[in-house]
Amino acid sequence: MRIEALGFRAVNSRNGAIIAAAETLVYGSFLDRAKAQLQRTELIMDLEPSHRLAWQRLGTYRNRDEFRGLKTIMAPELSRCFSPPVHEGQRRPYGALIAREDDISELGLLLAVTDVESVRDAADGVNAVAVCAKGGPPKLLRLKKPLVSQDDCCDLAAATDGVLLRVDGNGIIWIASSEAVTTIDDKNGWTRPAIDEIFSSLRRLAPTSDTHALDALVRLVYSYLSPRKVGCILLYSLVTADDTTCQTQGDPMTELGLNVCSSADWSLIEHELRHTDCAAVIRSDGLLLRKAVFLESTSASAKICVEGGTRHNSACRHTYDRPDLLAFVVSADGPVRVFSDGRDAFSLLLCERSLPWNASGGEMFAHETVCGNCGAKLTVRKIILYGYRESEEGDCPICGAQAATVHGWEIEIGVTKDTETIDRIREFRRRPEGPDEMGTESELWSLPFTP
Ligand SMILES: [Zn+2]
Repeated sequence: MRIEALGFRAVNSRNGAIIAAAETLVYGSFLDRAKAQLQRTELIMDLEPSHRLAWQRLGTYRNRDEFRGLKTIMAPELSRCFSPPVHEGQRRPYGALIAREDDISELGLLLAVTDVESVRDAADGVNAVAVCAKGGPPKLLRLKKPLVSQDDCCDLAAATDGVLLRVDGNGIIWIASSEAVTTIDDKNGWTRPAIDEIFSSLRRLAPTSDTHALDALVRLVYSYLSPRKVGCILLYSLVTADDTTCQTQGDPMTELGLNVCSSADWSLIEHELRHTDCAAVIRSDGLLLRKAVFLESTSASAKICVEGGTRHNSACRHTYDRPDLLAFVVSADGPVRVFSDGRDAFSLLLCERSLPWNASGGEMFAHETVCGNCGAKLTVRKIILYGYRESEEGDCPICGAQAATVHGWEIEIGVTKDTETIDRIREFRRRPEGPDEMGTESELWSLPFTP
């Protein structure tokens, strides 16, 4: 579209395509920036200075495009979250629901209180929220169900096609919508996607995992432990048998019967994790098996280094030694990372994408195969752009051996960790001569499989 606007011709030759792409990049991004700058200037001029600051601060942590049309109602409430009234050294908790839909009788008891300040004072952000919609003063909604996790806030926001803002007594702010959640405190702020998106990515990576338990675990970690800054490592088993390879036994927990699938157990699980070092092991069905588990790295995994401290590195290394686990790490600052096979788990997946820009079109197709070196099940995605032909090679994300080639634009490879793949990766890493990171034809995987 931008190319047409700038009067460029569609080109077929590779050089022509590169020149047109570069021109689009230079002129297109210039126009985009100018337009965005103009929008930003317009956006904040109609707000009061303190509301404007709050709105700008949100912009440093999150893209505000999804809040289009809500700015003038949302900015004053956000400002109150950033600077809540303080009484005898205590911040007053607050919660506001910025609603596009005003039919909310299903969610609780809606009270029309005449004094606006009384509405705001009563909205504690757990049992009651101030409902702010266009064309009227805020009303008080006494909720049927208290807002305990960020997920509860997302549900409420989704029901009104709006956004829920909340600050608690410690000054930790949650900004929740159906698309994403931002957590901000006095030191830090971060935004994560909606739980469903995180869950479906991990489910694609590990399709044979227990759907119910994986979903509950993702909710517990991202929506409950992370905003409460419960720094911990949770090792989630993708297979049914408990295994202590490269671990100490730790303290047995099965007698307590705590299961991540039951949200009634979450506060007790939090209690156990908050006051114990090291890792906890979760069985594939969600049962908490062991806590205070030390992770011992092998000489191969000890070479792995990721950004972060001891907790992140030991968890990441452990997933290399134990391909049957996913490691969920909540840092003491709050954000979550998930590791698998000594890497960021999401980096093992093919991301959602559409065909990259091309003046004269192209094709994108995917097929499944098995790595000839380590035996992992792979999805290979090839992208061909007409007028662009180069030899591209794609490597197996597990072992680094070349897994596929394309004469085209790009090749991307993702892993599927089903039970067979987990077994094969485990055996591959246990080979006495050590894993061959750049495998050759003569060392092809010995177990039977169909490429
Ligand atoms: Zn491989």
